[in-house]
Amino acid sequence: MMNIFYQSTRGGEKEVTPSRAILKGLACDGGLFMPDRIPKLDLSMRDLAGRSYQDTAYEVMKLFLTDFTEEELRSCIAGAYDDKFDTKAIAPLTKADGVYYLELFHGNTIAFKDMALSILPHLMTTAARKNHMDKEIVILTATSGDTGKAAMAGFADVPGTRIIVFYPKDGVSRVQELQMVTQKGDNTAVVAIHGNFDDAQTGVKQIFADREFAEELAEKGFVFSSANSINIGRLVPQVAYYVYAYCRLLDQGEIADGERINVTVPTGNFGNILAAYFAKHMGVPIDRLICASNDNKVLYDFFRTGTYDRKRDFLLTISPSMDILISSNLERLIYLSTGCDAERTAGLMADLTETGQYTADEDMRRQMEDFLGGFATEQEDREAIRKIYEDTGYVLDTHTGVAAAVYEKYRKDTGDDKKTVIASTASPYKFARSVMEAIGDGRLPEDEFEVIDLLCRISGTEIPKAVEEIRTAPVRHSRECSREDMKKTVKEILGM
Ligand SMILES: *Cc1c(COP(=O)(O)O)cnc(C)c1O
Repeated sequence: MMNIFYQSTRGGEKEVTPSRAILKGLACDGGLFMPDRIPKLDLSMRDLAGRSYQDTAYEVMKLFLTDFTEEELRSCIAGAYDDKFDTKAIAPLTKADGVYYLELFHGNTIAFKDMALSILPHLMTTAARKNHMDKEIVILTATSGDTGKAAMAGFADVPGTRIIVFYPKDGVSRVQELQMVTQKGDNTAVVAIHGNFDDAQTGVKQIFADREFAEELAEKGFVFSSANSINIGRLVPQVAYYVYAYCRLLDQGEIADGERINVTVPTGNFGNILAAYFAKHMGVPIDRLICASNDNKVLYDFFRTGTYDRKRDFLLTISPSMDILISSNLERLIYLSTGCDAERTAGLMADLTETGQYTADEDMRRQMEDFLGGFATEQEDREAIRKIYEDTGYVLDTHTGVAAAVYEKYRKDTGDDKKTVIASTASPYKFARSVMEAIGDGRLPEDEFEVIDLLCRISGTEIPKAVEEIRTAPVRHSRECSREDMKKTVKEILGM
């Protein structure tokens, strides 16, 4: 098998092994690691149909993580995709209203982040061993609500690691916040910042880029890494479920071999949909990649006009995990669309930092034709949730609702009725109040858990363990900080 190496999208690092790229998270120059090519699957869809999730994940991940042995990788996969998930299928497909919902929320924290964050700690500790790392790994993470909890669930009490999570104080749902502040584990820390997700993510990126601070940490025996989707160790495991989804459809006779499907993804940081793009270029017959945004529709505008412009108001919506104006992983697509021109990519990213915008030229835009942007307002999101519930009894969460609304508009506008997979990114229980406001009529109880019980009654689904746990769990984290004090807070937490 040919080895794959990683390079920074901004040119500052080259020939990095997969395990080192995972350990580092972000490249020294602030760029993101990219494989030197997108490998082709060495088995056909027919060969892969009927395989377990674990087997499929192995066949995908081995092609990207070429310095992991088969034994190492299989052991990471077995440790991640076990009975933490409440279904053997790990990522089941549910057909409703003519669309296939790929349910990515059956893990520990009931959002799709579990798909990658269940395995990242295994990949990272294996990578640390391979590289004879003698320092304690400090995972620094900015979260729009779901990553933080999923990362802590994965890293809690993992020897040789600590994890610090920053979330926007007023930018997450009640269940999301409770999940975070009740997190157990002596190596976990949670901080509410007075700002939005972009502030948190920018602050974390600045800390990563601070070389002096990195040296100071190294002296104390610490090294930073990232659990955000900027880490290639997040992206690679996510490719697997798109391969798996296609193979399940084939295996169940829902599609013919080679039949092209569309994929719609509710998007924020552009990580999940980029994984679908990787799957397509590995050989999965995917036609359109429909990128669904909420009212923070910076990506919709970008795909429509070629200009990425973050100079606009940051809106808080009922799909908070998509409230993002700086979609980090788009940098990887930009890099590919320039023909892997790191200098140009670095220039465009500098434009974004300095002027708040950049523009892709015609050539680049042609390279991005697989993607189509759409957006749904909060009202359209609610209507989609209600309509699908009334027609089928199936309840979507508010993020998946955005994707369903965008897909429905796309189908009406284009007449394209190819079979479609929608990535279902969270359990409705995580956003119970907003979901019940969309479906129910009449006033909802004040208490969040009474709303959850209502949702249980109308949907006929079981309340997930992740929700039952927080009903009574004590609050263990109450730290807050301003945007400016993130670095100081990190030092305090690490006792420096
Ligand atoms: C993180 C998240 C998204 C956005 O995914 P990206 O990979 O950041 O585009 C969508 N929905 C939910 C529920 C999420 O947690």
